[in-house]
Amino acid sequence: MYRALQINKDDAGYRTELKDLDDSALPEGDVTVQVAWSTLNYKDGLAITGKGPVVRKFPLTPGIDLAGTVLESNHPCWKAGDKVVLNGWGVGETHSGCLAQKARLNGNWLVPLPAAFSERQAMAIGTAGYTAMLCVMALEKHGVKPSDGEILVTGANGGVGSVAIMLLAKLGYTVIASTGRPEEAPHLKALGAAGIIDRKELSEPGKPLGKERWAGVVDSVGSNTLANACATTKYAGAVAACGLAGGADFPSTVMPFILRGITLYGIDSVMAPIERRVEAWQRLARDLDIAKLEANTTEIGLQEAIDVAARLLEGKVRGRVVVDVN
Ligand code: NDP
Repeated sequence: MYRALQINKDDAGYRTELKDLDDSALPEGDVTVQVAWSTLNYKDGLAITGKGPVVRKFPLTPGIDLAGTVLESNHPCWKAGDKVVLNGWGVGETHSGCLAQKARLNGNWLVPLPAAFSERQAMAIGTAGYTAMLCVMALEKHGVKPSDGEILVTGANGGVGSVAIMLLAKLGYTVIASTGRPEEAPHLKALGAAGIIDRKELSEPGKPLGKERWAGVVDSVGSNTLANACATTKYAGAVAACGLAGGADFPSTVMPFILRGITLYGIDSVMAPIERRVEAWQRLARDLDIAKLEANTTEIGLQEAIDVAARLLEGKVRGRVVVDVN
């Protein structure tokens, strides 16, 4: 038996409950993992509350991230006792997931837990933090350098935004954090933001082109925010778009692209190839300040995850949430 959240959708409606499940409830897979820690991401919030069409199979255990120890393996790369991390691949969407004490997975989805991190720290990073790293890597690959000017980070108090601030600041970039919670400015500055702007400056419909300000952008908000970020990115600058916390639309024009030569990078963590994941986790081990990560993290238990998921979607959770599943 193992304890897990389980989502059901039937005549009684859509609901998430804490349950004791038999091992027969585990899905197919060649590696069984004893979960130590999981976490809550925006997508987990959508799954647990049913506010977005994330879960496509019922009953299903939510949770797109885990850190834990291999219990049994029929996969050539993994053996009992190995410490592993899982992010995405449809786990917690179509394959029962990680907000549980046990998970059964495809061994091809796992990456080794970096020696630099405890299981709890890996989940304080989670998909949100690993996606922030993918965004930073995209800006770097584009050639954006600290001397090029300010980097805008939107959704600053969220998981992606807060980790992006920490990473960019440690790499020497000047970070401007856009937030709807100006009262959190001291926290954002402690993470490394050089300045704060009110997200209202970006969230209203704007002009096709605005004054050039950003050398690069990490955007987890989408909609008008992403359009305005593109319109105010400097000539030949780059925008890494990974989220839709403000909306999935993109009401932009071609102007920033054809008159300023800016580049818009789409960032996906879910199906990212294993080599890019390993690189991102190695970079996180090198470029993330662990003390700041801890200050950005709240700890909860499995049962609490149901309520916290709803608060996360309301934009009321700061930084990252780790879930002690045991
Ligand atoms: P969080 O809920 O932790 O953070 C989202 C933040 O966005 C909030 O904290 C808030 O920051 C801001 N925000 C919330 N609502 C609005 C709104 N209506 N308008 C403008 N800003 C808003 O989520 P995550 O950081 O986990 O994820 C952020 C986004 O990135 C989500 O859309 C998620 O689906 C996406 N994502 C995509 C991935 C990918 O692979 N492409 C992977 C991971 C996440 P503040 O209060 O500071 O304004």
